[in-house]
Amino acid sequence: MSSEIDARIKSARGFIFDMDGTIALGDAASGGHKALPGAVAFLSLLRARGTPFRVFTNGTAKPPAAYAASLRNAGFDLADHEMMTPSSSAAIWFERQGIRRVRVLGNAGVAAPLIERGIEVIGASEGAECDAVYTGWFREFTFPDLEAACQSLWDGAMLATASHVPFFATATGRGIGSSFAINKMLSAMTGKQAKVLGKPSRIAFDAAVAAMGLPKSAARDIVVFGDDPALEMRMARGAGAVGVGLTTGLMKRDVVAGLPDNQKPHLLIDDYARLSDLLS
Ligand SMILES: [Mg+2]
Repeated sequence: MSSEIDARIKSARGFIFDMDGTIALGDAASGGHKALPGAVAFLSLLRARGTPFRVFTNGTAKPPAAYAASLRNAGFDLADHEMMTPSSSAAIWFERQGIRRVRVLGNAGVAAPLIERGIEVIGASEGAECDAVYTGWFREFTFPDLEAACQSLWDGAMLATASHVPFFATATGRGIGSSFAINKMLSAMTGKQAKVLGKPSRIAFDAAVAAMGLPKSAARDIVVFGDDPALEMRMARGAGAVGVGLTTGLMKRDVVAGLPDNQKPHLLIDDYARLSDLLS
């Protein structure tokens, strides 16, 4: 175990946690979440130290406040504003870019953070002009939605997405990332590539850092916890932050050595016990 990494975790100015497989697991019986061992205590410890943290899931099926409520039910001390989804960072980014009107190919959970921030959202197949087409969780996607989105992109709108990963883990095996499938169709039809606004983008990382009240220059003093090398570890490595991998989700001990350098965790843990000791 590297003492340098221990020292950086100990003196970190902010912590970003993934949700599923990192601090909690989906609970099929209740439709809610179950905390992973030591995770509730670890977040409480950060609260007691006054160290800011955010939980950032790459899911957009629900608005951030709904995920926060589910985690509170699982025992976490977490405020609504401490929960983020790709739509949280997307809303901030759209605002900064002067993007005012967005065609959302997604359900209510995808659109909510944009509406909250004052971005005008138009429906998936609504006949109106827009500055951007934004894709997220959208199992209800239809052919008229495809036609309307293509028309917007041909007319000059940019293509942005919450997430561009093909699969995610579910209790019953592999689930299809709906935005990935939709992005592929839109790219094939228009030649435009989707700009990722969720993890592992720097846009998502910077949004979480800013939400914690920290300057962009604090990137090296942030610790990112996650179970997906291609999302959280890649985001941490790309930003110069510390990446802590959890073996409680997608990342297994035997595959870590074979990961590309930009997806390798700095530290791999099975639970939060030792880090709790390090920080108390
Ligand atoms: Mg995860």
